[in-house]
Order: sequence, then C-alpha cells, then structure tokens
Amino acid sequence: MNDTVTTSGFSRARAEIDLGALRGNVATLRARTGGAALMAVVKSDAYGHGALPCARAAREAGAAWVGTATPWEALALRAAGLDGPLMCWLWTPGGPWREGVDAGLDMSVSGMWALAEVVAAAREAGRPARIQLKADTGLGRNGCQPGDWPELVAAARAAEASGAVRVTGVWSHFACADEPGHPSIRLQLDMFREMLAYAEGQGIEPEVRHIANSPAALTLPEAHFDLVRTGIAMYGVSPSPEVGTARELGLRPVMTLSARVALVKGVPAGHGVSYGHTYVTGEETTLGLIPVGYADGVPRHASGRGPVLVGGELHTVAGRVAMDQFVVDLGRHKVQEGAEAVLFGPGDRGEPTAEDWARASDTIAYEIVTRIGQRVPRHYVGTDTGPDTDTDTGPGTGTPADPNGGTPPSA
Ligand SMILES: *Cc1c(COP(=O)(O)O)cnc(C)c1O
Repeated sequence: MNDTVTTSGFSRARAEIDLGALRGNVATLRARTGGAALMAVVKSDAYGHGALPCARAAREAGAAWVGTATPWEALALRAAGLDGPLMCWLWTPGGPWREGVDAGLDMSVSGMWALAEVVAAAREAGRPARIQLKADTGLGRNGCQPGDWPELVAAARAAEASGAVRVTGVWSHFACADEPGHPSIRLQLDMFREMLAYAEGQGIEPEVRHIANSPAALTLPEAHFDLVRTGIAMYGVSPSPEVGTARELGLRPVMTLSARVALVKGVPAGHGVSYGHTYVTGEETTLGLIPVGYADGVPRHASGRGPVLVGGELHTVAGRVAMDQFVVDLGRHKVQEGAEAVLFGPGDRGEPTAEDWARASDTIAYEIVTRIGQRVPRHYVGTDTGPDTDTDTGPGTGTPADPNGGTPPSA
C-alpha cells in the first residue's frame, strides 16, 4: 500500500473507505450470529460508503444476501454484475416489477396492491417472481397488519399455486431493537412467530425468515432466525450508545472523512467568525478554514460543537457550518495550510468518530455517515483485487466529484 497516496493523495476532502474493515465486520457479525445467513444492507449507497464496492466486499466476506431499500438500487447492482440473492423492500405502485422479475430480485410485498402488480409482471415475463411477504409486527411503517395477513397469505398461496410467484421469505422489522429491553421487542417477536406460523400453516414454505437488523443481530439471538439484515454494524458504527461502542462490539469503522486546511490566518480579539457571528474570538488567535460544509454532509446542527482533529490536535467547529466550509479556532496551535483535518474515523489517531458527530449534532451516527455528499470523493483501501482506487465520480450517481479528489500530490 502506498502511504503517500492513502494519506496525502487528496486536495480538498475525501472519504476513505476501508473495505478490509468492512470484511472484518462481516466476519465478526457472522461469528456472532451463529448459523444465520447475513444480508449486507447497502441501501442509500451503502450508507454513504458506495453500494457496489461494499456489496462485493461483503460477499467476499461471506454475506449470502444483499439488500437495498428501493428496486432501483437493487437493479443498479445487478446491472453492475452483482449476482446472487438480492432483496429490496420499498416498492410503490408502478414497480419496476417487471425489471425486478427479470433481474431475479427478491421483492417484498406488504399489501394486496403489490401482490397484484407483481403477479401481473410475472405473467408478462413468463417466469415466477420471487416475493417475500412482509409482516407489520408492530413497527407501524411498511408491512401487512395482522388483521390483513390472512387475506394476503391466501392470495400469495393462490398466486404460488398458479405458478406466478414463489414465496421465498416471510419477514418483519423492529421498531426499538436499538433500545435493548424495550417492551415492544418481545411483543414484536411474539407477533412475528404467530404470523409466520399462520403463513406456514397455510402452506407457505419460506427459504428465509428474518426480522433482525444490526442491533437485534448484536443483542438478541432469538431474533436471528434464518437471516440477519445488517447495515450500520457492517460499516463499523454502533446502532446506539445503549448497544455499546463500536470498539466494545468488536467492530471497526469503515469510513474516515478528512479535509485539507485551506487557510490559516491570525485575527484580533473580538473577531466574529462565520455567518451570524455566533462565535467571536476571545483573544488574538489563529483561525483555520476547513473546506467542507453542509453540502458535503457536515451537519449544520454541529455548528459550534463538531469535533475535528486538525494537524493532530482536537478542535471544535467555531461558529456556523456553512454550505462549503467551516472554521476552527486553532488558538496557539501551529498548523499550516494543507494540514489534514480528520472529522471522523476509527479513532486510532485520536480523531473523533461518527458517534461523536452524532452526539454533537443531536442525531444518530447512521445519519452522519449516510449524508456525506457526492462531492466528497471516495477512496477505497483494503480492496482484495488490486491497488487502491479513487472514484473519479461520486459513487452511485455518476455525478462528477472534485476532479482533484484522487490526484496524488505532484511534488
Ligand atoms: C435499513 C434496514 C436494515 C438495516 O438496519 P441496520 O440497523 O442499519 O442494521 C434492515 N432492515 C430494513 C428493513 C431496513 O430498512
């Protein structure tokens, strides 16, 4: 590995994605979930980490399944050559059901409208659709209510008997698994067992039964069933403080977000900093300009609070986070333009973690990593297949990113 490239080879900002850490996290999760298969959840561009490289790395580490929210996300992975079991669950009227059938996706069905549309698409395609029936066991979001379940199960059985569909799964999702001991967890598990038993009693023979997300995979063995669907833990981020820190859970953060200090300058006491002058220097001091902002996913709610390791020392966002930049008060710390500012990473070098930013922004660490924008180039390390690579385009969308993002220093 070329250290110059991995630690200095960017100009404005970059997100380093450690696929070795991701593979290690998959192995850790598999070891902790016994015989259950693992679904690598790579929705929303793998929580900002890049859907395709993460899906591939997860497969290498033994993830039998890959999951996305929207069918478009799943179809993009198929088009890029990802084969094997691939499920998506957030459907709206109009599909793309036919494309889903043709691509061999496992398609979630939460209601009668969806079953009717997928059956029509399968008949048109001349091959059975793989569907998974989703039960609302208490989340109150997507999924079929217990009262509507007999009608959906009967219709799915009939469609299966006609050869239009194969019911490959019965599944559900927790509301409060990130709060171990929450009373809803037990109630949802009981309801899941009941709805599953009903479906099986009606002749449904699912290949996979599943309800566990990351927190349930980590804390609730009786929720593992045949498959656990892990997103956040696979990216080395804890689902919640109650579940533990990443380190306690044996997980290693995959994303490191860094920027280069763009300007260092002395200012007098009493100088306002950034929009609104919510920060005013107390004495003569040195300000450092960090060239990332809320357009890059740095939360504006972290104004005055976000932690950053600048030139090896911890500092705090001074004043407001703007669209493209924010400022830190460096005090007497001598820093030069071009010095590295690490917003978050694994914490090895004393840098903050995504969890630290979540606390500073009154949000969850899921949001911190997922919102890192397309303008920040992703730089992949720990790939199995060759030298480290930078993306010339933002992952997922094909949107041009900072053209200098991956350029090694010329001097
Ligand atoms: C996002 C999602 C997951 C993964 O959740 P994590 O807490 O990130 O592991 C699992 N299942 C469904 C239905 C989801 O939407």
